[in-house]
Amino acid sequence: MGGNPALQAGLPLLAAPESGPAIDLDGRRISYTLQRSRRRRTISLLIDERGLRVAAPLKAPQQAIDDLLRAHAAWVIRKVHDWQQKRPPPLSWVAGEQIMLYGAPVTLEARAGIVLPQLDQDRLLFDPQLAPTVIECGVRGWLKRQALACFTRRCHDYSAQLQLPAPAVRLSNARTRWGSCHARGRISMNWRLVQAPAAWIDYVAAHEVAHLRQMNHSPAFWRTVEILVADYAERRAALRRDAHRYLLL
Ligand SMILES: [Zn+2]
Repeated sequence: MGGNPALQAGLPLLAAPESGPAIDLDGRRISYTLQRSRRRRTISLLIDERGLRVAAPLKAPQQAIDDLLRAHAAWVIRKVHDWQQKRPPPLSWVAGEQIMLYGAPVTLEARAGIVLPQLDQDRLLFDPQLAPTVIECGVRGWLKRQALACFTRRCHDYSAQLQLPAPAVRLSNARTRWGSCHARGRISMNWRLVQAPAAWIDYVAAHEVAHLRQMNHSPAFWRTVEILVADYAERRAALRRDAHRYLLL
């Protein structure tokens, strides 16, 4: 992207454990998210709806993290197993399965004569002759088109409310953040967010648009977010707490 990283403000999503570091415990590969922080003095382990997280001081050696994970191997394995049982199974991309759109389930349905994926109320129709991999590709593309149209509309509504020029809006595929705002008036939003309730999409759009005015998280920034979305704090909390329920993809 270039530019000054200090002038880019991102909204963290928390990395998916699949993309993070991993350790072998009792012959099992355990993935986790590592969060290093300047303020932290000790290493701690946490299992929540996003899986295993390790919080560590900025300069904690990897060996110390490995040692702690090994010392608690039985606990870690049991908790990660419980967490995996609760996760929705991956889609096989066949009729009858559900995806999420704006926080509501949409059922995949094969219907003759359909060329491109097409929404019919709470059903997403596709050509019954397509292979699952082609259906997956088509449905993901369709979701991204919905996402871009929706995010652009919301960002432009909010920038107009603040009497700012309309930002260029793009989709991101980041595993680590919901959105980001770049110095030259460009906003990126994570396409996966299209699966979440519209109220949360609005919060993320308002957050990024507010960065067009305040490239920081100062009290003035939050006052700007509040102009756009008065109950932003509740929406932010709900997004942090429950986003995993909607992110099937
Ligand atoms: Zn921010």
